Amino acid sequence: MLNMSDVRVLKNYINGEWVESKTSDFQEVYNPATGEVIAKVPLSTKEELDQAASIAKEAFESWKKVSIVRRARMMFELQNKLIEHRDELAEIVTLENGKNLKDAAGEVTRGIESVESAAGITHIMMGETIANAATDVEVSSYKYPIGVIAGITPFNFPMMVPFWMFPMAVAAGNTFILKPSEQTPLLAEKVAEFMDEIGFPAGVFNVVHGAHDVVNAIIENKDIEGISFVGSDPVGRMIYERGCANMKRVQALTGANNHLIVLDDADLEDSLPKIIGGAFGSAGQRCMAAAVLLVQEGIYDEFMERFVKEAKDIVIGNGMDDTTYLGPVIREKNQQRTLNYIDKGVEEGAHLTLDGREGVQEDGFFVGPTIFEDVTTDMTIWKEEIFAPFVSVIKVKDIAEAVSVANTSEFANGACLFTDSARAIRYFRENIDAGMLGINLGVPAPIAWFAFSGWKNSFYGDLHTNGKDGINFYTRQRTVTAQYLTNKF
Ligand code: NAD
Repeated sequence: MLNMSDVRVLKNYINGEWVESKTSDFQEVYNPATGEVIAKVPLSTKEELDQAASIAKEAFESWKKVSIVRRARMMFELQNKLIEHRDELAEIVTLENGKNLKDAAGEVTRGIESVESAAGITHIMMGETIANAATDVEVSSYKYPIGVIAGITPFNFPMMVPFWMFPMAVAAGNTFILKPSEQTPLLAEKVAEFMDEIGFPAGVFNVVHGAHDVVNAIIENKDIEGISFVGSDPVGRMIYERGCANMKRVQALTGANNHLIVLDDADLEDSLPKIIGGAFGSAGQRCMAAAVLLVQEGIYDEFMERFVKEAKDIVIGNGMDDTTYLGPVIREKNQQRTLNYIDKGVEEGAHLTLDGREGVQEDGFFVGPTIFEDVTTDMTIWKEEIFAPFVSVIKVKDIAEAVSVANTSEFANGACLFTDSARAIRYFRENIDAGMLGINLGVPAPIAWFAFSGWKNSFYGDLHTNGKDGINFYTRQRTVTAQYLTNKF
């Protein structure tokens, strides 16, 4: 354990400067693989958030007038910097989140991709025109930035999720305040360093660390026009309700309980590593993780034998080691929560096929891969989002039964189907309640040019992050109707 007086205290980045928070409230940031404290994060105050918002509002007045070509070029510069530093960024993600370096590198690539998408802003912001709406009448629409946007992000993707938000918002001419997860705040510090080095004007991009107080201040602040939130269901629901009541636009991407269907004709050789990755990659702490497997009865025994064998062979350890597949969960309380779900599953009568308790280690917040069979939809372990390397398996008769089980869930983020049957694929696509589908894929997270489009209780709002939704969320339109008096010539 480090001596606490040696532990670095993070600063906020406001108005182009690194500022010590005035708060007396700090929280430890841990390396979840060792349990060591690696930094302290300030839980900033309402006054600090209000000050950042007022600065961002002032910065908006000039940033929105900077030519779009210049803003796009600054995004290209950011993209280059991220590419140059990609290994360093992946190491920060592994250090603070625990996922292995390969998963962290994948996350960094996704973040870079969002900047690449935002760098196309000159095309994305183009308006529309009709030259002859009536005699000599033209109608044109223009897109404008809306003002100050606040981003509130979760612990599980310290790089990718903030990048769903600020590159597009800032490229469109808005200014931005990022409130990173207080559990994984280090990556945001690096991003602010890069934005500073590139020369984004003071106040365009700001980082205010904190937790509930900063979030409440964001919701109530009159200078903030829009909130992008990604995190758990109850928090997202609260922010959506209160943010809208305060007349802001809000997009809230929330919890999940994704179902993955394996039909009799699935190619197991190809599917198994993808399903293992979907279930246990990033320690199951993905909003697109495979939480429930619905396996058709004809392939069930062979699938389970191979799936359980592969899960047993998973190497658990510090994500910094090249051999590690499964890193820790984020905190001791998440580890304990997962162990409680194991007790609950047993108590409710599911069959514990692989016991994650065996993966608990003396240091770090580890849980081994956990597999329950004979799960039913009245069990807690099926209903709730566990967010850990924990999988419930249900045997199904056919695709129709599988879809009907999945549709019972209150969440509808992603769903996957493993099959060779075009008929089953069409049935799945047309009938499943989920906003993002994977066909013969384990983690169907769309590339940045498409919306991250959860349904039901996995999303509150109208416009998702990324894709056309992303730019529409961060802009408003002005429509001009004009008559030109050409009969006067
Ligand atoms: P979380 O809801 O605990 O925290 C998210 C953010 O909200 C953090 O910045 C946190 O400081 C803040 N927050 C937490 N509790 C709050 C409260 N009571 N009042 C005000 N602010 C509060 O989520 P998490 O544990 O960091 O992340 C995991 C969750 O995120 C999972 O539910 C996962 O499914 C979800 N997630 C969803 C998506 C998606 O696209 N749908 C993507 C990633 C993660």
